[in-house]
Amino acid sequence: MASYRTVTVIPRMPGEIERLRELAYNLYFSWDSSVVDLFKAINQELWEQVYHNPVKFLLRVSEADLQKAASSEQFLAQYRQVMNSFDKYMQQPTWYDTFIARCSCDGQETKKEPGNDKSNTTGRNFLIAYFSAEFGLHESYPTYSGGLGLLAGDHCKAASDLGLPFVGVGLLYKHGYFTQLINREGRQEAHYRYQNFNKLPITPALDSSGKEVVISVELPGRQVMARVWHMKVGRINIYFLDADISANSQKDRELTGLLYGGDSETRIAQEILLGIGGVRALRALGLAPTVWHINEGHAAFLLLERLRELVEGQNLPFGVAREVLRADTLFTTHTPVPAGHDIFSQEMIDRYFSNFYEKLGITREQFMQLALDQEHGGFNMTLLALRQCGFSNGVSRLHGAVSRSMFHHLYRDIPVEEVPIGHVTNGIHTLTWLAPEIRDLFDKYLGEMWERMIAGSSDWEQVEDIPGRELWGIHMDLKEKMVLLARRHIHQQRVRNHETLDRIKEVESYLRPEVLTIGFARRFATYKRAGLLFRDKERLAALVNDPERPLQLIFAGKAHPADKPGQELIKLINDVTEDDRFRGKVIFLENYDINISRYLLQGVDVWLNTPRPPMEASGTSGMKAALNGVLNCSVPDGWWPEAYNGENGFTVGSDWEFPDDDDRDEHDFYALYALLEKVIIPVYYDQTAGLPKKWVNWMKKSIKTIAPYFSTRRMVLEYTNNYYMRASERSQIFCAEGYKVGSELYELKKFLRENWHKVQISSVETSGDENMYPGEKLTVRATVELGPVSQTQVCVEIVYGEATRRGVKMVKTAPMYKEENTNGEQQGRLVYTGDISLPQGTYAYTVRVRPYSPHFAHYFELPLVCWAASL
Ligand SMILES: *Cc1c(COP(=O)(O)O)cnc(C)c1O
Repeated sequence: MASYRTVTVIPRMPGEIERLRELAYNLYFSWDSSVVDLFKAINQELWEQVYHNPVKFLLRVSEADLQKAASSEQFLAQYRQVMNSFDKYMQQPTWYDTFIARCSCDGQETKKEPGNDKSNTTGRNFLIAYFSAEFGLHESYPTYSGGLGLLAGDHCKAASDLGLPFVGVGLLYKHGYFTQLINREGRQEAHYRYQNFNKLPITPALDSSGKEVVISVELPGRQVMARVWHMKVGRINIYFLDADISANSQKDRELTGLLYGGDSETRIAQEILLGIGGVRALRALGLAPTVWHINEGHAAFLLLERLRELVEGQNLPFGVAREVLRADTLFTTHTPVPAGHDIFSQEMIDRYFSNFYEKLGITREQFMQLALDQEHGGFNMTLLALRQCGFSNGVSRLHGAVSRSMFHHLYRDIPVEEVPIGHVTNGIHTLTWLAPEIRDLFDKYLGEMWERMIAGSSDWEQVEDIPGRELWGIHMDLKEKMVLLARRHIHQQRVRNHETLDRIKEVESYLRPEVLTIGFARRFATYKRAGLLFRDKERLAALVNDPERPLQLIFAGKAHPADKPGQELIKLINDVTEDDRFRGKVIFLENYDINISRYLLQGVDVWLNTPRPPMEASGTSGMKAALNGVLNCSVPDGWWPEAYNGENGFTVGSDWEFPDDDDRDEHDFYALYALLEKVIIPVYYDQTAGLPKKWVNWMKKSIKTIAPYFSTRRMVLEYTNNYYMRASERSQIFCAEGYKVGSELYELKKFLRENWHKVQISSVETSGDENMYPGEKLTVRATVELGPVSQTQVCVEIVYGEATRRGVKMVKTAPMYKEENTNGEQQGRLVYTGDISLPQGTYAYTVRVRPYSPHFAHYFELPLVCWAASL
């Protein structure tokens, strides 16, 4: 076969504007629209043709265009301004710089640990590694399927804004997630586009000696290699693994082909690449993270690789290695939907990991126990992460609670409220999702510093100062833009599908900007109930065709290629769009992606969200909508109960329990129609001189209460303060002096597990009787026998809460203290006392003993507890 070499001919870049290349290779362009304007100024048509990909743009742009730009004073001025902002962004002191400066002043510097020679100038070793199977950063590269990926992308962008020492790890997919085309029958077709990595804003990652980094992992009967790519996102880096290299067999080269494609063999191999390969890539790059954040279970194999490093590399016994691992690992779970949790059969685990059992110095049974799912008998990635990570969290207040009850079975003896899974409510990267037009409004009315305030807990009162007419005018402009985009897309779709000229021409009259517009776009998983409005088409037709107060609806979203019911729903909605009653008034836009999402979330009036509670862990699209003055209409699920205050959007339906899904759907359907007919439509159309005053007031309320809190700036700060800082400190403490603390904690836990059954509460006495007055003290005295367990290894406490029909709610604890010189001490009997004072109401209280160590990550690091037998 002939062998060819390739050569790429690129346009000469005029010296005056040569830093365009730097801009093209930093995802900074994804949130600063002035960079986009710069590329558009060179050649707008080309910018659209390359789908907003600046690297592709620079490969394709003509020398003439570049020369013309370089000789235009106007362009050069624009260029200089953009470069200034970029340089300022990259160099100005960040939140983290300020934080570090404050710590060093406080003299809180961590002392230098032996072996920690990589400490930076402040003496603080801190690096967060963030592993995720998806990163949704920009429309030009589809490495995301939905909310999880978008969240990861926005997380990285906020980490950059804050100046955190942060590195992302993911896989580079040759085809990414699929492109959705809707065919003439109104059915979804999945197409996989080939991504040329040389045309993406990434470069091969180099190690300290300047060599390209290639790592390998063991798969059954072979080694698979992966090349590592480097992407800059503002100040931080993401590294992507790519198995499509000639050292691999043809089949293995396909491993990083599709995101969430292929069978479970592909899936496990991908996850091994991500988790195990990802750790190896960081090591090859000379990076030593002190915090490991696992974004959803796909990346949890990193735990096994780190255990292997500790056992093989540091000669630690397995049990000690596990304690050290727990010190600095955080797991974020993202869904209560069972299909969202990967489970591999034990047979598969044997094939892929039997070499690991020995390396970790444990038996096959012990290995399986790391992640055994009693219900399915399989190896569950969520359990692998939950059981090994020191910290775990859900992604909204409600989802935290749902996760605690989902995993209560792992902590049977503990009240569900105390299951050690916390929550950090999701956010969005504000600048990525904010329409430039609205951004200008904020600049004008909120003052210079508003960007720094997108992590606040207080409302943005100045939003009230924005003149209603100005806000509404911009909203209508954005709506018109959205309508034009929708028409353009349907036009393209019909041309591609060889539809008749009439059908193509008809699109020009689709959607009208002055009509109340509801948007619904998300993954078409059935629990999201895209079809809820269509349960009664007559009633919907009446609303849509009302001569005075019409309604129009825009749908978009992909269904996973294996999700048949989801695809049926897409077909159903596309059929509705062809119904004469709905033509041009209910539309479906194919290939929902970041670009379409931006237009919709900035251009509709109402953003509809109808998942079946409590299936939506958080949802983030509604936050993007609110930021741009779009009102949310959502069931009380995910993030919405935290945001809704009665006047910043609409809550529809309820979170009650229903006998079955159909009952719930019917209930929510009626509630939704009532809300539309009685509130949303009348208020929208109550306009004076084209201005819906009350509506605009609601828009302001929505912006001012939702934008400041639901940002990834606030979210990443919460991760940092609640988890990253603690994990990093624990990492240093546990690793110091030859992993001394890790070993001690392992021994302590072993001792407590073996002896806990000897701990008893032999009696409890209380001061009061069954009735008390508010503010009166209730004193509790308990006699405790600890056996061989020492007083310093336990915590004795009163546990109390509201007594409700469903048990004790709002559980609180109050410490109890050992009485000095009690007589019984010789016989191992200790008396503890404590008191509580209670407001009016009915309460339940009891006493318990739980294990304690200053090195526990949380109360129930060791899920042992001894409750007072009966009171
Ligand atoms: C924001 C976003 C999502 C996630 O939003 P949900 O509310 O979870 O549906 C999904 N896809 C795209 C393209 C988005 O922009």
